[in-house]
Amino acid sequence: MAVDPMERTEQARELMYSRLPSVNELLRAPELRGDVDAYGHDRVVVAIREQLQGVRRQIASGEIASEGLQPAIGSIAQHVRELIRRGPEYSLKPVINATGVVLHTNLGRAPLSEAALAHVVEVARDYCNLELDLESGERSKRDVHAERLVLRVLGIAEEEIGRWSVTVVNNCAAATFLALNTLAERREVVVSRGELVEIGGGFRIPEILEKSGAILREVGTTNRTRAADYELAVTEQTALLLRVHQSNFSIEGFAERPSLAELVELAKTMGVPLFEDQGTGLIERLDELGVAGEPTLPESIAAGVDLVAASGDKLLGGPQCGLLVGRADLIARIRKNPLLRAFRVDKLTYAALEATLFEYVVGGGESLPLMKILSAPADEIEKRCCAIVESIHSANLIAVVVPVESMIGGGTAPSARLKSYAVSVRHAELGAGDLQKKLRCSDPPVIARIAEEAVLVDLRTVPVEMDEAVARVLERL
Ligand SMILES: *Cc1c(COP(=O)(O)O)cnc(C)c1O
Repeated sequence: MAVDPMERTEQARELMYSRLPSVNELLRAPELRGDVDAYGHDRVVVAIREQLQGVRRQIASGEIASEGLQPAIGSIAQHVRELIRRGPEYSLKPVINATGVVLHTNLGRAPLSEAALAHVVEVARDYCNLELDLESGERSKRDVHAERLVLRVLGIAEEEIGRWSVTVVNNCAAATFLALNTLAERREVVVSRGELVEIGGGFRIPEILEKSGAILREVGTTNRTRAADYELAVTEQTALLLRVHQSNFSIEGFAERPSLAELVELAKTMGVPLFEDQGTGLIERLDELGVAGEPTLPESIAAGVDLVAASGDKLLGGPQCGLLVGRADLIARIRKNPLLRAFRVDKLTYAALEATLFEYVVGGGESLPLMKILSAPADEIEKRCCAIVESIHSANLIAVVVPVESMIGGGTAPSARLKSYAVSVRHAELGAGDLQKKLRCSDPPVIARIAEEAVLVDLRTVPVEMDEAVARVLERL
């Protein structure tokens, strides 16, 4: 009687599984004896299990299809040794951002400064005064670790500081939601139809409004909204005027919307607070760097908005978080909202935020990695690209330096383009998609974009110290 081939494969698999060495056998392997002493029994066992699991996966997938190919105990032990030396294989790991997108949400947005990292480590290594007032010994609010510096960086005058407060939540989406839920639940929020935007990652203003319990009162049209449109919509039911920064798109042509100052004026006249979802968190204008017309957070405050929400990891250049800055009475209401407890941030975020803000106080933020990336002169980037191209000798690669345009990304300054240079790479045998994947799966991973059938390695977003690593990865292709 003929044996079903499926069954035969299954039997072969079972046989291969049963012939794999046990954890104990591997522990006794001469190759690993020194490692048990050097790294400890547990560390070696973890690596053995990981390696055995890998071999089982190869058997299951058919990659190892016959007993003849099954690795011998010595070879498995050798792989275990390598695993131990490499250290744990984390899921979250550093990558080289060669996309030229400065604030890439998929790549973690703004890199943190050395000062921010050092402060995170210092605060996290041991206990800290997260909610303890050292002077009085009493319980305090964690917001104190951000408030003073935020208000200072936003340029609020010393005598005005008492009128303002700050709270910090997980991101700008949470900040906006919390503000709407606290100040406008079951009441109306007046928004221009031109600002009912989707920010990305599922953050849509109308949906956030609805979830917050606020009632959307749309005014104007997609391209034109005037102050008078807001005025006509305000009733006793109105809780807020909402302004949303059109951060990730631009309308050109027959378009108009009131200036922030006009809306402030109107809000005052009508006795309704003006809340702005500012988004970017930009502190100083970037016009000189080619990011024209992007408004700043201090400008919003100076214009007289009552409450503003911004991201910490966009143009502020800090950790992921959402800042809510506003009139003390409004923030006091927000602080009483039980949801704040669900959205609050941890000590690591306060540490990184505080250190980032401090860099603005002492040097206008110029020392932040983000500002260095934005301000790197194109000719310097070109020189770095040339050095990499010259160092590549692989016969399979055609690498040339090409001018490109980097973008801000992260849903900000959609039309801003920064002059940059990239190493454009083509492979003798691989297509651009395969080449891009090879770069992505290299160690360290290099994330690059494709244009005209070539892979572009834009060095604007690559730290200078990583140029050599990029060159090595390219050379190995
Ligand atoms: C980016 C952005 C958001 C969302 O910010 P996250 O910090 O990513 O939650 C909200 N509103 C505006 C205007 C934005 O630009």
